[in-house]
Amino acid sequence: MKTIMVTGGRGMLGHAVEQVVGEEPRAGSRFEFVDIEEGDLTDKVATRALFERVRPHGVIHLAADVGGLYKNVAQGVEMFENNLLMNMHVMQCCREFGVEKLVSCLSTCVFPEQTLCPHITLPIDETVVHMGPPHPSNEGYAYAKRMVDVQSRYYRRQYGRNFISLAPTNIFGPHDNYSPEHSHVIPALIRKCDEAMRGGTDFVVWGSGKPLRQFVYSPDLARLFLWAFFHYDEADPLILAPGPEQEVSIGQIAQHVANAFGYAKPIVFDTNYSDGQHRRTVTNQKLMSRYPEFRFTPLAEAIKASVAWFQANRTTARL
Ligand code: NAP
Ligand code: GDP
Repeated sequence: MKTIMVTGGRGMLGHAVEQVVGEEPRAGSRFEFVDIEEGDLTDKVATRALFERVRPHGVIHLAADVGGLYKNVAQGVEMFENNLLMNMHVMQCCREFGVEKLVSCLSTCVFPEQTLCPHITLPIDETVVHMGPPHPSNEGYAYAKRMVDVQSRYYRRQYGRNFISLAPTNIFGPHDNYSPEHSHVIPALIRKCDEAMRGGTDFVVWGSGKPLRQFVYSPDLARLFLWAFFHYDEADPLILAPGPEQEVSIGQIAQHVANAFGYAKPIVFDTNYSDGQHRRTVTNQKLMSRYPEFRFTPLAEAIKASVAWFQANRTTARL
């Protein structure tokens, strides 16, 4: 029986992997979900102790210091250092403990910012990761995550390791982080709309609502991570996202959230807050060429399910 260790196992994506892992027979594999309580991955000694105990054959590495635009702007140092340290220690231990397959997680926000890089055209594909600076708002996180791609290639070249990296767009779903200042946009809007509904106050969206994003629902992404663990073995990263035709504005997302709650008043946009990156459109052509039968959950349906999850779990959700 082979052990596959999932780091960040009690985060949003970790929970989703746990939820969907039983959908297909995974004969000969058992999954072990670990999180910071089992070992702080910024600490090399704790990371080694975790590998020593679990002795994984494969690792799906989801743990990260994660946050939305406003956390990234406020905590560039932590986003850079914590992510660099975690990824460094996990990769080193994977080599040391003979891990056969490591799946690491990038993000499409690590790609070059198009307005700073005239040679980059949208939609972005996997080939341009290092071809220009990322958007300044999430530079620390972006540079740390880019090193995952670099380091994975080195291990593949020098030690023959099957280390791959996957780049999802903005994720949302059950078990998200709903912190008002630190969360990503969809959980933030779910929390704010819930408070507006219950308090009879305005639903306030930060910024103009004009930026564009592609979103992926965490159970969809979890299925893609498991597929990639068993079937994707290439050195180049793989973008995991619905196609560019699924790009939506933050204003549209706020409207989807309002609809799911039945919030009927006008949505307020507070332009005292910055908008961050305007757009980072990516193509999913490579994914569709490798896994053409995969279907993403429609956005409105996924937002409705995420709102329902929050309403049922607001007292225990990460706030
Ligand atoms: P998440 O819900 O915050 O999960 C991350 C998990 O990592 C949390 O359980 C967290 O524990 C844990 N963690 C943080 N610091 C740790 C440490 N020092 N040692 C061990 N564990 C630690 O985030 P997610 O959204 O599921 O993200 C999963 C992956 O997707 C990450 O690699 C992230 O960079 C990537 N990603 C996320 C998005 C997005 O929109 N959310 C977009 C693109 C890529 P605590 O909660 O206790 O800190
Ligand atoms: P990004 O996609 O990496 O920039 O990060 P986010 O998921 O935090 O999305 C940021 C976008 O959502 C920006 O255009 C923000 O102005 C907008 N936004 C609107 N309201 C909120 C909010 O309450 N929290 C967050 N994080 N973003 C918001």
